Amino acid sequence: MAKFLLFLLLLPAGVMAGHPPLAGKRILTLGIRNESNTFSTAPTRESDFTVQRGPEVLAAASWAAACKAAGVEVISTVHAYAWPGGVVEKKAFEKFRDEILAGIRKAGPLDGVYMEMHGALHVEGYDDAQASLVSDIRQLVGTQTLIAGSFDLHGNLSPAFVQHLNLLSGYRTAPHRDVEETRQRAVNMLLTALAKGLRPHIECITIPILVPGEKSITDVLPLKAIYEQIPAVSSRPGLMDASIFAGYCWADLPRSAMRVFVVAESDEYKEQARKAAEELAQQIWDKRQELQLSVPSGSFAAMLQEAAKHKGKTVFISDSGDNTTAGAPGDNTHVLATLLEKKTKKVLVAGLVDPEAFAQCSQQKVNETIRLSLGGKTDYTFSRPVTITGKILYKSAPETIDNKRGAILLDIDGVSTVILNNRRSFTETRDFREIGVDPLQYDIVVVKLGYLFPQLRAIAPVQLMALTAGFCNLDIPTLPYKRVARPSYPLDLDMSWSAIHSTNY
Ligand SMILES: [Zn+2]
Repeated sequence: MAKFLLFLLLLPAGVMAGHPPLAGKRILTLGIRNESNTFSTAPTRESDFTVQRGPEVLAAASWAAACKAAGVEVISTVHAYAWPGGVVEKKAFEKFRDEILAGIRKAGPLDGVYMEMHGALHVEGYDDAQASLVSDIRQLVGTQTLIAGSFDLHGNLSPAFVQHLNLLSGYRTAPHRDVEETRQRAVNMLLTALAKGLRPHIECITIPILVPGEKSITDVLPLKAIYEQIPAVSSRPGLMDASIFAGYCWADLPRSAMRVFVVAESDEYKEQARKAAEELAQQIWDKRQELQLSVPSGSFAAMLQEAAKHKGKTVFISDSGDNTTAGAPGDNTHVLATLLEKKTKKVLVAGLVDPEAFAQCSQQKVNETIRLSLGGKTDYTFSRPVTITGKILYKSAPETIDNKRGAILLDIDGVSTVILNNRRSFTETRDFREIGVDPLQYDIVVVKLGYLFPQLRAIAPVQLMALTAGFCNLDIPTLPYKRVARPSYPLDLDMSWSAIHSTNY
């Protein structure tokens, strides 16, 4: 409710409570959200998407309630979301796209379109599916309808995509804590533009930097000081919004890069928007060498040695190469194999994605012993299955299994290992609570993440980053890039670049 009130307060005078000129305006909404890892061997299928349609979308969205209060009709098509993964299957994307386009045809004349996107969607058979989608939408709605979008700051928005947008805004926090606020901000800009009859202009500067999310956290320097300038930049005369996109580096695509976007109220303020974008982009370029990890890092074996120095404290170690929140499969066995080999005790591996092993364990009872081949089935590039004998300590209730949150806890020679039936990571305290374990009772907790998500960061006495091999390898220069734009930092260290001399894209 607080956020909803804040949203109303942010709207310009005369926009609230159905007052003209917004009353009777019509907005259509859609979304296909996925962060697509082009290095992964596991495609993202239609069944990986959670899909909302029609009233379901509107019931969940606080921005929709605010539109209603302002007298704006919102027509909803498809909102589809899949957890970060491999490239999206063509037939899944085309099914969602066709449904969206049919919805637009059926809707009739529209004043605005609001796209709820991630920005790093990549689809098999398409160079740039996002650009293709928005181009199709533009053809149907015509040039007068305003198209606005909200994005994850890990999106890679190509020029071909942005040219069809009138307004956009991206998250201002990573790890993300402002998802709803960003959506509200994008819709708020759309309503403001409609109320005032504006034709906004988006200025973009592409900064040739490939950076993993773990080296572009917004609440540590140097990015903290740069992101903090966004509100002041956005409130300069004639400007509506500014966004800094860290981009998504595990996509080997020409559009993978960092970007700054500044939205001006109209072409009249184009110069001001360009100047603001240059200021932000140049600061990022100048600080590029300071985009580093904020926690100690090294090989997994080195992190185990480091952990041993923190007796009496639980050490959280990220298995960063197999980070499912950045699209990795989550079944890489390197960490488990190393722990077993070193006979490490009081360790929790949370968790390992293996639906097959999960199904086998499901046939057994708690306290029974099972021998099976674990992991290494999807990530067979960087790991192999491990044959283990384990005792079942916990099994999810059947309803959890239906909900894709199934988990089995196995004791394997003192290494407590969580087997998951669906690709996900342990990001919140409830993930541990749900399987009846207190992570702080262990000496070491391994998670398949890069940076720890806020709840885990808050409870972790010590955090370490294992630089493991996998589809989300943090060592960018070692990735097998073929298609990214060159030169790009840090692949080309001797390059020079300046925001002032950069072309718009
Ligand atoms: Zn993100």
